[in-house]
Amino acid sequence: MAQQVAHWEPVIGLEIHAQLLTRTKLFCGCETSFGDPPNTHCCPVCLGLPGALPVLNAEALQLAVRAALTLGCTIKQRSVFARKHYFYPDLPKGYQITQFDEPLAGHGALVIPDGQRQLSVGITRIHLEEDAGKNVHQVDGDTVVDLNRAGTPLIEIVSDPVLHTPAQARQVMRQLREALLFAGVSAGSLEQGGLRCDANVSVRRRGSSGLGARVELKNINSFRFVADALDVELRRQIELLEQGHVVRQQTRGYNSDRRESYLLRDKEGDHDYRYFPEPDLPPLVIDEALIRDVEAHLPEPPATKRRRFVEDLGLTVYAAEVLTSHPRIASFFEETALLSGKPAETGKVVQRELLGDVTIDGLAADFPVSPEQLADLVRLRASGAISGPQAKRVYATMKGTDRGAAEIVTSLALSVESDEAALAEIAQQVVAAHPEQVARYRTGKRGLLGFFVGQVMRATDGRAEPKLASALLAAELGEPEEAVSPPRKTAPRKERDE
Ligand code: ADP
Ligand code: MG
Ligand code: ZN
Repeated sequence: MAQQVAHWEPVIGLEIHAQLLTRTKLFCGCETSFGDPPNTHCCPVCLGLPGALPVLNAEALQLAVRAALTLGCTIKQRSVFARKHYFYPDLPKGYQITQFDEPLAGHGALVIPDGQRQLSVGITRIHLEEDAGKNVHQVDGDTVVDLNRAGTPLIEIVSDPVLHTPAQARQVMRQLREALLFAGVSAGSLEQGGLRCDANVSVRRRGSSGLGARVELKNINSFRFVADALDVELRRQIELLEQGHVVRQQTRGYNSDRRESYLLRDKEGDHDYRYFPEPDLPPLVIDEALIRDVEAHLPEPPATKRRRFVEDLGLTVYAAEVLTSHPRIASFFEETALLSGKPAETGKVVQRELLGDVTIDGLAADFPVSPEQLADLVRLRASGAISGPQAKRVYATMKGTDRGAAEIVTSLALSVESDEAALAEIAQQVVAAHPEQVARYRTGKRGLLGFFVGQVMRATDGRAEPKLASALLAAELGEPEEAVSPPRKTAPRKERDE
């Protein structure tokens, strides 16, 4: 099989649907919602009742324009809504309002990491459309329909057929989600159906430039599954071709449990949908001023943020990654770093203490302390007024309250022991109490110094000044003997962040 695979080149293009973060639906005033009781966010427009007229949501348009500019697209001054007809119970009107031959925007690009390099993936088009409702298959065998989601604003982002591996497709989905999240366009919640992908795939003989018949894998909602589904489908196509069969143009689903793609239907052509311009909506004409306004307020892209964190704030690449895992975390960190004046130390505290306590819900995040509170803590720690373990205690006491760090330090009577004589005495006691470790240290196990420092910390309730304690212990223990045998060769350790 491996031999055969090498003869064929995969060609992949993605269509990604992202839910726009609006308060209301695309053509009516019903709230967008998730998890509410079925059919509680519906009106004549999104139920498709005769005579009800759609009105475009200005907020949705603005977010779509922001998405398009974020992806470097050209916005069409005039685009057109169209009806796409098909019959399905979750589609009350019998058609979906979307855009067809005159979409909102086109000619963009998304840069993705591709191994050690970067790959610029062309964005063919971006258009606005409404989501369908949801069929709910009940245990008693009945199927009922929930129309809360019907009419939810989506953008569809279509890539050029320029990807050649499942891993690249996965990166496109990941990077697109991140770009939209940082642009404040979409929460990109895969679990809630806020980001879904149709993956189109064909294969061609390596060296040829035409496009083979493609299969569209529908509705994939995880980064891993997009790669798995493509991998499985590619193998199926190659096997068919190698056996002298043809690949039929089809729409298929992916069963992740069985790792199989399965036939949904033979691919319909555009004519099957009976597209025509939506008569109830005028052509969408976009004011140049709107584009300029959105452009002037585009949020900083995540890659730029990371570079700035490393180059200007002196963070490690790894820390910059972690601190830009969500836009609110990045802004919380920046605000705190600005207040404390100590970006690197702030980064460490945010990573070690804060991140575990942050709850994220879409674009929103809930923090257990304020940037002011955390900045004060960082400053107290950096000045040496409290030790690392004490800072942990202060943070634990502070979270969920509005108490200040300095006040907590006073109320817990925390202070750092940096009296040399007092610490030297404790160091002596610790050394005397652990003869076995002392013996091992003296035969060359230098790493045990950390153990002794830990013991001094314990004896002082975390108050010992660590550098001083360490120096006093080293003096007390004396120089370890030189190792008798030559140092063993060890595999190079992966560089870690501290
Ligand atoms: P449709 O509107 O019928 O879904 P499009 O031409 O808009 O068709 O293409 C949809 C997606 O399929 C795009 O992402 C495009 O890159 C991709 N695509 C088109 N042809 C092929 C092909 N032969 N192999 C793989 N992907 C393809
Ligand atoms: Mg399509
Ligand atoms: Zn409605």
